[in-house]
Amino acid sequence: MLFKEEHISEETLSAEKNIKEGKKNTFFADVILPVPVEGRFTYRIPAELSEKVQEGARVVVNFGKRRVLTGIVMRVHQEAPQNRQAKYILELLDEQPLVNASQLRFWEWIADYYMCYLGEVMNVALPSGLKLSSLSKVQFNPSFVALQAQYQIPLSAKEQILIDNLVGDNALTFEQIANLLNVKNVYPIIKSLLFKEAIIVFEELKEKYKPKIVKKIRLTKHYLIDIDKLTELLDALALQKRNFSKQQDVILKYLAEIPADAPIATHQQGLPKSAFVKVGISESSLHALIKKGVFEEFEEIVSRFEEYDTLPLKSITLTDYQQEIVSQIEKSFQEKQTVLLHGITGSGKTEMYIDLINKTLDRGQQVLFLLPEIALTTQIVSRLKKVFGAKLGVYHSRFSDNERVEIWKGVWENRFPIVAGVRSSIFLPFNNLGLIIVDEEHDPSYKQYDPAPRYNARDTALILAHIHQAKVLLGSATPSLESYYQAQQGKYGFIKADKRFGDAQLPEIQLVNMSIERKQKTLKYNFSSLMLQAIEENVQKKEQTILFQNRRGFAPHLTCQECSWIPTCINCAVSLTFHLASNELRCHYCGYRESPPASCLNCGSTKIKTVGFGTEKIEDELKLIYPEIVVQRMDLDTTRSKYSYQTIIDDFANQSIDVLVGTQMVTKGLDFDHVSLVGIFDIDRLIHFPDFRSHERTFQLLTQVSGRAGRKDKKGIVLIQTAKPQHPLLQRVISHDYEGFYQDEIAEREKHFYPPFSRVINITVKADEQSLSIEAATELTQKLKAVLGEGRVLGPVPALIEKIRNQYLQNVMIKLERDKINLKAVKQLIKEQTIGLTSNRRYKTLHIVPDVDPM
Ligand code: ADP
Ligand code: ZN
Ligand code: ZN
Repeated sequence: MLFKEEHISEETLSAEKNIKEGKKNTFFADVILPVPVEGRFTYRIPAELSEKVQEGARVVVNFGKRRVLTGIVMRVHQEAPQNRQAKYILELLDEQPLVNASQLRFWEWIADYYMCYLGEVMNVALPSGLKLSSLSKVQFNPSFVALQAQYQIPLSAKEQILIDNLVGDNALTFEQIANLLNVKNVYPIIKSLLFKEAIIVFEELKEKYKPKIVKKIRLTKHYLIDIDKLTELLDALALQKRNFSKQQDVILKYLAEIPADAPIATHQQGLPKSAFVKVGISESSLHALIKKGVFEEFEEIVSRFEEYDTLPLKSITLTDYQQEIVSQIEKSFQEKQTVLLHGITGSGKTEMYIDLINKTLDRGQQVLFLLPEIALTTQIVSRLKKVFGAKLGVYHSRFSDNERVEIWKGVWENRFPIVAGVRSSIFLPFNNLGLIIVDEEHDPSYKQYDPAPRYNARDTALILAHIHQAKVLLGSATPSLESYYQAQQGKYGFIKADKRFGDAQLPEIQLVNMSIERKQKTLKYNFSSLMLQAIEENVQKKEQTILFQNRRGFAPHLTCQECSWIPTCINCAVSLTFHLASNELRCHYCGYRESPPASCLNCGSTKIKTVGFGTEKIEDELKLIYPEIVVQRMDLDTTRSKYSYQTIIDDFANQSIDVLVGTQMVTKGLDFDHVSLVGIFDIDRLIHFPDFRSHERTFQLLTQVSGRAGRKDKKGIVLIQTAKPQHPLLQRVISHDYEGFYQDEIAEREKHFYPPFSRVINITVKADEQSLSIEAATELTQKLKAVLGEGRVLGPVPALIEKIRNQYLQNVMIKLERDKINLKAVKQLIKEQTIGLTSNRRYKTLHIVPDVDPM
C-alpha cells in the first residue's frame, strides 16, 4: 500500500481553504498511537471519510516524517490543533468500532493512574492479532525525483540497485532487501537512503486474524425438499456398474449420520468433509455427487473451543452452609460495590462463585472471572467448562493470537457471556458486565511488572466494575492486607466462610526444628529425619506427597572452597544458578548460560562445591534416598511446552506420581484427593527476604500450600523445616490464625507507614553506567524532595539486584498519605521532575520508570 505525499498535500490545501472560508465541515480525530511519546495526536479526517470514522476504530496515519502507524480513534471533534497543521488520516480500517467507549475510558484511567502512555495501554489491551503486523517495509519516496534533479545526490552501487527495484510501487521487506543486495546488514543502506530522502519506511498492514474454517457437505435444495429422491438415487446406483458403489458409500454414510427423517434443520447443518474422509471415502467420490447436484459444499466458521461444546453440562448443589454464605454475599452487594470473601481452603469457593455467576447470567449480564496466571490452565477451568460449556471463553497468555482474537470477537458479540482469564482479560470488550470475580485476590501475579502499564488487575477491576455499574467479589483464603483492611474499614463488604466442604478438616501443621536435627546429625542431605519418615509412611499408605521449595535449579550458586570465588552473570549482578540436568550455569534474570567451570577462575583450585538448593536438588536427593519412589518435578524448567503443565497435573491426579516437587506452581488452585502430606523447605529465607511484604507473602504461601493437604474425611499433615520454630509468623501459620497474623502485620505496616496506610510509587532510574545511575537518582531525589516534601521521598538505594541486563538500577521511593492528598497533582509533579531531569544532556540515555503501587 502506498501513500502519495503530493496527493495528500493537495487535499490539505483545499481543507485549509475550507477552514478559511468558514466551512464547518472539517473533522479531526485524536488517535492513540503505539509510541511512548507524550501528547495528543490529532489528525484531520478526509472529507470522504468524515461520515465513517468512529471512535474506537482503527486508522492508519503518518507519524513523524516517514513512519506509518495504526492507531485507535479516541475522539472525533472539530477543534483544529493550534500552531500546527494536522496531517490527514491515510486509511480507515474498521467501519465498526473495535473498541467500545467504556474501554476507552478504562484505558485513560489506567494511563493516568499508572503513569504511562495510552499507546502502552493499547499495546497490552489489544491481542496482537488485532494489531497490525509491524513488519517494516521500504518504498521509494516520490519526491526524491525532484530532489535528485536539483542536487544530483550521489548513490552507491547497492543503493542504486535498491532504488531501481523500488520504483513502480514495489515495496520490499528488510529481508527481501538483504537478499536482493546480498548483504547481511541492511540498516546502513536504509539509514543512508533515509538520510538522502530517497525512501520511506512504513509498517506493513495486514490482518493477521484467521478464523478456523471447516469444509462441510450438505444436500442440495433439490434433494432436501424431497428426501425420498435420495433413496431412489441409492437404488439407481445399486443397479449400476461396480464403480458406483463408492458413491453409494457416501450416501450411506450421510444417512447413517443424518437419517432421512431427521429435521430439515439438521440436514441443513450438513456434515464435515472430514467425516467422510475418516471412514475411507475418497474426495473424488464426494465430488462426483457434488457434480451430480446431490450434495453441495460450504464453509462454516467454527469456534476453536468447540471440543468442549458437546459435553453434557453439569449443575451444582450448594450445601446449606454455602447457600447461606452466598445469600450473605448477595445481601452485602445491595450496599457495597465490592465484597471480600475470606473463605478457607476447601470451603468450596468455586462452587459459590458458580452460583453467583449463574444468577448474573440469568439477569442477562456478563461475568468476568479473574484467575492468577498459573492456576488457569488447570482444574478450575475444566470445572467451569463442565458447568458453562460453550458460554465460557478462556483467555490465557499461552493461547495463540488467533485464539485470543476469537475470544475478543466472542465477547463483543456476546457469545461468551462468561470469561475466565488472566489479568489481561480486563481489557476484553465487555459492554454489560454485571459481576467480576477476582479469585485468589492476594496473588502477586495480578500485577504486571514489565512493560508498562504496570497495572494490578485486581485494583483496576474495581474501576472496570465502576464503569459498568457492576459488582466485584474478591475471594481468598489469605486476603491481601490491603483488601482485608478495606473490609475492616467498611469500604468493602466482608463475608467469612470457615467451614470446609464435607466437614474436611484443616491440615495439622508441624514445625521441624532444623537446628536440633543439624546438631544431632540426623539430616540426610536437605531432608530432616521427620520429613523422611513422614514421606516413607505416606508412600506406604499409597498416599501422595507435595514438596515445596521456592527456588528452581539445582543450586543457587557454586563456590570455590579455597578462595570463595562465585561465578556470576556477565550481564547482571547475581550469581549463576547451577542446573544439573542440562549441566549449565544460568542467570534467572537475563537467561545467560555457560558451562560450569572445571576449576576456579580466580585461584585455579578444582575444589568447587554447590551452595544452597533448588527443586532439582530436592528431586535428586529424594531419588537417591528412595530409588523406588516416583518423583516428578514441576517448575518453570519442566513446564515450558504448552501442555507439559497439564500432563504433570494429570499424571499426579491419576496417581502415577508419588511425590510432586515444585516451586510456587504447586501452591495454587490445585485440588487432589490423595495428597495427605505437604513438606516445605527453606522457609526461613522467605521470611527474611528484604521486602515489607515478606511476612505477608510467607503467610500466604504456607497457608495456600498447606491447603493442598487433606480432603474429605482425611486429615492432612504439613511439615515445615525451619531453624526458628518460635518465629511468631510460623506460630500464626500452625494455628491457622489469619486474624492474628493480620493484627501483627497491620501494626507493623502502620508503624512504618507502609500500605495500606500509605500509597507507594517507586521510581527506578536505569543507566548504562553505575556512577551515572547513582548521580541521576540522587539528583532526582533532591528534586522530588523539593516539590513533595522531604518526608515523602526515600532513597536513592540500589535495587535489590543492582545490575540487570547491563543496566544499573537505582530506586527512589515515594510514600504518600492515603487521604487529603491530590494524587493527580502529585503524579504531575513527579512527571515534570523526571522530564526535567532527562532534558539534561548528560541524562539523555537514562530510562526512568515509575511503578505505582509496586508489589
Ligand atoms: P476452595 O477454592 O475454597 O479451596 P474448592 O472450591 O476447590 O475450595 O472446593 C474444595 C473441594 O470441595 C472441591 O473438590 C470441590 O469440588 C468440593 N466441593 C465444594 N463444594 C461442593 C458442593 N457444593 N458440591 C460438591 N462438591 C463440592
Ligand atoms: Zn578459588
Ligand atoms: Zn543475567
